[in-house]
Amino acid sequence: SPTLLWFRNDLRLADNPALCRAAETGAPVIALYVLENAAGGRAPVGDAARWWLSRSLQSLGRDLEARGVQLVLRSGDARTIVPDLAHCLGAGLVAWNRRYDPVGIACDSAIKADLKATGVAVDTFGGSLLREPWEVKTQAGDPMRVFTPFWRAHQRLGEPGASLPVPAVLVGSRTPVPSEELASWGLEPTSPNWAAGFAEVWSPGEAGARARLADFLDAGLARYPDERNRPDLASTSRLSPHLRFGELSPVQIWHASEHAGAASGRAGIDKFLSEVGWREFSYHLLFHWPRLAQDNFQARFDAFPWRTDPAGLAAWQRGLTGYPLVDAGMRELWQTGWMHNRVRMVVASFLIKHLMIDWREGEAWFWETLVDADAANNAASWQWVAGSGADAAPYFRVFNPVKQGETFDPKGDYIRRYVPELARLPDSAIHAPWQADDQVLKGAGVRLGVTYPRPIVDHAVARARALDAFQALRGRD
Ligand code: FAD
Repeated sequence: SPTLLWFRNDLRLADNPALCRAAETGAPVIALYVLENAAGGRAPVGDAARWWLSRSLQSLGRDLEARGVQLVLRSGDARTIVPDLAHCLGAGLVAWNRRYDPVGIACDSAIKADLKATGVAVDTFGGSLLREPWEVKTQAGDPMRVFTPFWRAHQRLGEPGASLPVPAVLVGSRTPVPSEELASWGLEPTSPNWAAGFAEVWSPGEAGARARLADFLDAGLARYPDERNRPDLASTSRLSPHLRFGELSPVQIWHASEHAGAASGRAGIDKFLSEVGWREFSYHLLFHWPRLAQDNFQARFDAFPWRTDPAGLAAWQRGLTGYPLVDAGMRELWQTGWMHNRVRMVVASFLIKHLMIDWREGEAWFWETLVDADAANNAASWQWVAGSGADAAPYFRVFNPVKQGETFDPKGDYIRRYVPELARLPDSAIHAPWQADDQVLKGAGVRLGVTYPRPIVDHAVARARALDAFQALRGRD
C-alpha cells in the first residue's frame, strides 16, 4: 500500500526526514500539499508569502516529478483532505515533518488520531529546527525565557545529527491522483501585480536556497560580524524566506557553516549560527506560549494606552512618515517582500514608540507583506521590540531613526535606493531633510510637504510621550 507524504513547511528533498521515511518503505510515494483555510482570522500563509509559496511549489513539483513522484495539490480543510485521501489511496502510512504553531499542532493531532483510529500508521519527524522545542529546558525542566542561557543549553545538547541525503530511490505511483491546478489558487497577484519586484530579488525553491547559502558562506560569512547591521550592504544571508518554507533546513545550514573553512573565521560562524539560534528561541517561545502572536508575554503591557491612529498607521505602512530610514525600510518591504533586520527594529520601534500603535498592528502588516513571514519569528520579534516579550529590549530603548540612519547607512545609499525622491540630497541632509537649508533642498529638487512628507511626529516629543506611558507600567506585576 502506498505512502502519503504530506509537505508543509519543508518544501525540499534534501535533509527531509519524512521523505526519507517514505522512501525507506519501498512502497509507492504520493506527495501532497494542502493550501489550508484561514484559521483564527488569518490565512496560514500571508499575501507576500503566497507569491513565494507558488514559486516554491512549482520548484518542488518539478523536482519530485523528475524522480517519478507526483505532487498532489488540494485546497481546503486538511482535517478532512488528508484522511480522505489516505483512505482513498489505501495508504498504509502517512508521514510528515512537524510544525509548532498552535493551529498547526491542533490540526495535526486531530488528523493523527483520525488516521490511527482507522488503521493508518502515522510517522512524524522534526525537520524545521536544530532541536525540538521541548528538548531545551532549565535544570528544573521548565521552558526557557532568556536567549543566552537558552542558546547555551541548546549548544550543550551537542551537534545536530548529520543532514540526510536525498533518497537514492523513490518509487512513484503508477496511477495519477486527481490534483488541483496551482494556477487556479491565485497565489500570485495579477492586477495590480505588487509582487513584480520580487522575482528580481529572489529565487524561491530548493536550488535557489542552496545557491544563496553557498554564496553567503563564500562571500558574506567572514564579514558578517562587522557588517550584519548595515542595510546598505549585502551584509546578511537573506535565507529567511527559504527557511520559512523549509527549502533549506537549519541542520544543513549548521553543517555547511561549520565546514565553511578557516577563511570565514570562528567569529563569523558563531555569530551567524547564534542568529539561527534566535529562530530556534522564537519557536521555543511559540511552542510553550502558543498565544505569542496575540497576547503580551508580560501581562503588565495589557494596560498600555495604545493609540488609535489610522492616518499614522497608513503613513507607516506606505513609507510616508517623513523619517527617511523608516520610509526606506517600509518601501523595501513593499517592493521586495523583505527588510533588513536593523531596519525592521527601527520601523517597529517607530510604530510602537513614536506612534504608540499596538505592536499587533505591525505584526499583522508584516504578516501580509513579508515573504519570510513566520508565525514564531514575527510574533517574538514584535514583542521583543515592544518590550512586552520574553527577554525583550528594555521599554526605554527608543530608537532615534536619524541616528540609526547615520550609523548604519552612513552614506545614505540604502535611503537613496528606496526613497528616490531624496536621492539627490547630500549625505549630510539625507537622514533629516527637514533640518537642511532651503538651498540644499531646492538643489536636490525636494519640496517638503510636497515631494516628500515632513516628519509626522517630532522625535523628542514622541520619545517623551512614549517614555511616560511605559514608565506608568513599571511596578505592575
Ligand atoms: P541573517 O542575519 O542572515 O540570519 C540567518 C537566519 O537566522 C535568518 O534567515 C533567520 O532565520 C534567523 N534570524 C536572524 N535574525 C533573527 C532574529 N532577530 N530573530 C529570529 N531569527 C533570526 N524573521 C523571520 O524569519 N520572519 C519574520 O516574520 C520576522 N519578523 C520580524 C519582525 C520584526 C519586527 C523584527 C525586528 C525581526 C523579524 N524577523 C523575522 C527577524 C529578522 O529580521 C529576520 O530573520 C532577518 O532579517 C532575515 O534576514 P537574513 O536571512 O538575511 O538573516
